[in-house]
Amino acid sequence: MSAGERSDDALARLFGQVLSGLGVDSQRPGLVGTPERVVRSLRHLTEGYDMNVRDAVGDALFDQDYDEMVVVRDISFYSLCEHHLLPFLGAAHVAYVPRGRVVGLSKIPRLVDLFAHRLQLQERMTRQIAEALVEVTEPKGVAVVLEARHMCMEMRGVEKGGQTVTSCMLGCFRSDARSRAEFLELIRRPQ
Ligand SMILES: [Zn+2]
Repeated sequence: MSAGERSDDALARLFGQVLSGLGVDSQRPGLVGTPERVVRSLRHLTEGYDMNVRDAVGDALFDQDYDEMVVVRDISFYSLCEHHLLPFLGAAHVAYVPRGRVVGLSKIPRLVDLFAHRLQLQERMTRQIAEALVEVTEPKGVAVVLEARHMCMEMRGVEKGGQTVTSCMLGCFRSDARSRAEFLELIRRPQ
């Protein structure tokens, strides 16, 4: 436990106080146990803090003489915005061009999850996924696009609907317009 971190019991007591503070009868049957459930849920949704990129990838790195684009698209993710602790959710599209080392394909969604399970900004999460892939594969380039709906905008009535799109292009995806165009074309194609 780091400084300031509290036990689940202590956190549940605090959430009980939040409910009371909101004027909610926290003793009514439906709410008994809610503080404890909220704590368990938040622990799960922030477990990305207890993990690093190496944990997510494990030993699924392979020397492979392959230098074409690898694209994993439509990876669903669910995260919490750090400003309101409300969900933002959508799809991640990730591509890289290897330089002699590839990562197991199933590890790319795990990298997305690693960063989604923290309190996030969509912009930062996009860059973190790209930089993690650079760190583990040292590729020729990485491209990440995130499309998400933000409940903090929709539920609070700031804006209805609408997708927020962020992208991070590194290496050849930044320097070579054709690689970038090919990636954007691949992720736009209907499934
Ligand atoms: Zn927000």
